[in-house]
Amino acid sequence: MFEILFAGTGASVPSRDRSLPCIAVRIGKSISLFDCGEGSQRQLMLSKFSFMKVDRIFITHMHGDHILGLPGLLQTMGLSGRREKVDVFGPVGIKDSLCGMMDACEGDLEFELDIHEVNAGEILRFNTFLVSVFATVHGCPSVGFKLTEADRPGVFDQEKAFLAGLEKSDYSKIQRGETVKGVRPEEIMGPPRPGMSLVYTGDTVYCDTVKDAVKGVDVLIHEGTYVEEDAELAKGHFHSTIGEVARMANDAGVRSLFLVHISNRYGDSEEPIEEAKKYFENTFIPNDLDIFMVTPDSVRSP
Ligand SMILES: [Zn+2]
Ligand SMILES: [Zn+2]
Repeated sequence: MFEILFAGTGASVPSRDRSLPCIAVRIGKSISLFDCGEGSQRQLMLSKFSFMKVDRIFITHMHGDHILGLPGLLQTMGLSGRREKVDVFGPVGIKDSLCGMMDACEGDLEFELDIHEVNAGEILRFNTFLVSVFATVHGCPSVGFKLTEADRPGVFDQEKAFLAGLEKSDYSKIQRGETVKGVRPEEIMGPPRPGMSLVYTGDTVYCDTVKDAVKGVDVLIHEGTYVEEDAELAKGHFHSTIGEVARMANDAGVRSLFLVHISNRYGDSEEPIEEAKKYFENTFIPNDLDIFMVTPDSVRSP
């Protein structure tokens, strides 16, 4: 299950309603951040996601609206007693950018900060999920991230277990993969179920590498900076249009689409959501601090 906090959903400059890009994804106890715009630490404090539990931060590109929250968040973590390592992943140049920002501020971190420059095609493996890196196109070094959960065990069939003569106390052993009383786990459990997947693109023009990355994903979190009427602006600033994104989601068999990086120019207008739903009904434009739970069967806001 993914628990997704939309900490900041704005684009380029903050507004009263939308803070700068920051998406937090909780899987088990671990929280991963995707981009960290200015003000992200306070947005996290306003939510039920503890900023102290953020173990890794994925940065799509080094435009200020996506990274200026890093030094503040990291310093606050240190001042609040964090001693465990934090990993930051980003495209080529993230090391210089982040080290430069940290050096500009007095005070050393009392925990290890490990900054990793990643390239398209790389796969990063963690305990319960992996993250693959794909190329995006935004006029500067940029990448997107696809998170895939580890496969889940197959469904446990109670009736088969009973008929095979197993007792309740045997069930957990079977679920752990042990053979009990001559009964093998595969006789009782269904085939492993594939883990869910989530893509976060950051800012990008509509391009083939993004199209490939989003095929069949459960959750696509994509920038929705411009509507199609402003396609020329989108092109000039290396962004996609909402129409392109929604059609792609539909063609790629995406389960749910969340549009973020929402431009202030559309204010309260319904145009962005109407344009998206014209092509892909299961689209959401979250507000700041909205939380969505995504399970294999449902997408809901608690
Ligand atoms: Zn941006
Ligand atoms: Zn950008």
